[in-house]
Amino acid sequence: MSKIKQITIILIFGWIGMTSISFFWNYINLKQKKEMIAHQTAKSFFDLLVIIRHWNGSHGGVYVPVNKKTLPNPYLDVPFRDIKVNDNLMLTKVNPAYMTRQLSEIAKEKEGVQFHITSLKPINPKNRPTPLEEKFLKDFEKGVKEKGLFIKKGGKTFYFYMAPLRTEKVCLKCHAKQGYKVGDIRGGISITLPFVLKIPFFPLLLGHIGLGIAGLGGIILAGQKLDKAYKTIERQAVIDALTNIPNRRSFSERLLEEFKRSQRYHEPLSLIICDIDNFKAYNDTYGHIMGDECLKKVSETIKNSLKRPGDFCARYGGEEFVILLPETSLNGAVNVAERIRKNVEKLGIPHKNSLPKQLVTISLGVASTEGSSLISYEELIKRADVALYKAKENGRNQVQVFKEDE
Ligand code: GH3
Ligand code: MG
Ligand code: MG
Repeated sequence: MSKIKQITIILIFGWIGMTSISFFWNYINLKQKKEMIAHQTAKSFFDLLVIIRHWNGSHGGVYVPVNKKTLPNPYLDVPFRDIKVNDNLMLTKVNPAYMTRQLSEIAKEKEGVQFHITSLKPINPKNRPTPLEEKFLKDFEKGVKEKGLFIKKGGKTFYFYMAPLRTEKVCLKCHAKQGYKVGDIRGGISITLPFVLKIPFFPLLLGHIGLGIAGLGGIILAGQKLDKAYKTIERQAVIDALTNIPNRRSFSERLLEEFKRSQRYHEPLSLIICDIDNFKAYNDTYGHIMGDECLKKVSETIKNSLKRPGDFCARYGGEEFVILLPETSLNGAVNVAERIRKNVEKLGIPHKNSLPKQLVTISLGVASTEGSSLISYEELIKRADVALYKAKENGRNQVQVFKEDE
């Protein structure tokens, strides 16, 4: 697997991780926000009720006309509870508890916020706590300041909030006989909020899935493009652009490897250097574009003339090519060189200014480590070059071998 592919896979997993974290972070955040808004709303209702009750209590209760809905409060045991103004108007005192109860009954008729005044020791039995309210009232006595949670009723979600009512000085007028002191928890008011903010779960999920897919698409696309570009660069570094066979740099690396191996295993390594004959004249006669085409054909012919998997050819520069033949004797290399020479000639590329054949031909120089394995690889190149020079001198279109004694 290429490095770019590895990085792409890491990025893909990273991106999936990041979008998942973002989704859960947003979801948890919205959940907290939902609870905070519900809590604040319910608390505001509670605070407003406490203010209204304080106003009532500060007057020691307020007188209101008696009617069907507001009858004298049998649980309010104070002097001058009822005052007859005339035959048509009778007033009765409404204390904070009675007022709160009346307000909660009005709220019950509407489908909005509901609240309930309650106590562990209610004077009016109607103010008895529900099991949940009783539990919270006991928690308040242990020091808990307020309670809030989401509850389900009839398939709907509500926010249920409760906080304690503390005894104020004004309360003692009626509640002193129950043994309360200022600051004591006298009971509580529960608030039930029906309008709970809905978390946009599916839009949030779909948004993140969309973002995830778009990001993954981008990463994969960029990864593929980078991989392709990387492979092209890698290829360009070792492959000659015109002839599509390995370049000189690639040859140098391979020569070093093969040279070391041949020394280690005491095997011969042979090298052929070849050069197109009168190629300058070819360019001058047929033009550079035709010259390039000729180079491509010759290089392909050289490549196709090699039979063994270890054989290696490269463009050495200009119209020169090198062929590396591992585990090949000098004689074997001469045979290969001759085969290449013949195959190029057989191409039959016309070259009217290359006498005597008037065809494109090549000259080849062969050298081998065989018989003189102590030479360096630089020396091997030099020897093949000397042999090539000899082939040119001798009339071109031929194979020459380097001989030490010459
Ligand atoms: P010789 O038989 O002695 O090798 O003669 P030559 O003309 O082949 O040798 P010379 O070194 O004088 O000229 C080599 C020419 O090869 C020069 C240049 O125009 C041509 N050549 C080198 N590289 C390229 C190439 O990439 N494309 C083309 N079209 N021509 C090239
Ligand atoms: Mg040349
Ligand atoms: Mg030449």
